[in-house]
Amino acid sequence: MRPILEVKDLTVYYHTPAGPVRAVEGVTFSVHPQEWFGIVGESGSGKSTVALALLRLIKPPGRIERGQIVLDGRDLLAFDEEDMRNYRLAQIALVAQGAMNSLNPVKRVRDHFLLALRDHGVQLGEQEYDRIIATLLKRVGLRPEVAHLYPHELSGGMKQRVCIALAISLEPKVLVADEPTSALDVVVQWQVMETLRAVQREIGAAVILIGHDMGLIAQTVDRIAVMYAGRLVEVGPTREILTEPLHPYTRALIASLPSLDGRGELRGIAGLPPSLLNPPAGCAFHPRCPVAIDRCRMERPLLREVRPRRWVACHLVENGGTT
Ligand code: SF4
Ligand code: MG
Repeated sequence: MRPILEVKDLTVYYHTPAGPVRAVEGVTFSVHPQEWFGIVGESGSGKSTVALALLRLIKPPGRIERGQIVLDGRDLLAFDEEDMRNYRLAQIALVAQGAMNSLNPVKRVRDHFLLALRDHGVQLGEQEYDRIIATLLKRVGLRPEVAHLYPHELSGGMKQRVCIALAISLEPKVLVADEPTSALDVVVQWQVMETLRAVQREIGAAVILIGHDMGLIAQTVDRIAVMYAGRLVEVGPTREILTEPLHPYTRALIASLPSLDGRGELRGIAGLPPSLLNPPAGCAFHPRCPVAIDRCRMERPLLREVRPRRWVACHLVENGGTT
């Protein structure tokens, strides 16, 4: 099956007076139609930058330095601004981190939908708009009356559902969800994830789910990509990564998950993620890596397919995945 999205060598820098912050470097992955693809990493690993870059929403001083973002056979980075504006929402949509706070406080929910639809050339009669908005709200488990409320009249969970309904209003082929449940309490988190699953089934989009919580992401996605210091360090099917993580950083992430016997022991990973202004030479993980060798300080490991569908960037993981 041809991938719906192919990201190749995506590289994004933020140009600061102190020099370029290498937020995303050489990121390559592909996503299949209707697939759930997870990107996991600590805060500052570059995952939100990937999300914004996929929609070409990087603002100065940030800049996409190079790469390709091929959506359904067309490279978004070759589009002019006007084409991109048409593609956004219609072909690829984002539920951004903290999206619920981006609703305009002086506009009713209905107006948010009208703006999105009209902006994409959907011209309808008032009743037809109302019918479509009611359908979209229903898809995320909200009643039609919600259309007439202002954002401050909604709970956090309801606001996030409105944002999901907005994101799917033109049935995009790819939905990017960046920490869609952060800042919500656990029960509401679960409901919002259920809502995402339900809308994905209905519109058949591929979903890129981004977050810092390996446990939460792993429950939902088919494949996981682990990001560290702006690069992908491991990509593979969720079940395989959980049962046999190959990269030392992935192993540490999984070891830090609360244990299954319910004692919830959380072992953090010693040390801090590196500065992306002056990333360490060689493997960026070497200052924290328990099994680093001399070579790791000098030579950067490339992401390689070490067994079918398993990609790992580590000098100690040879073909076949033995370390
Ligand atoms: Fe650790 Fe070296 Fe592998 Fe990096 S390349 S993860 S430092 S062993
Ligand atoms: Mg983020």
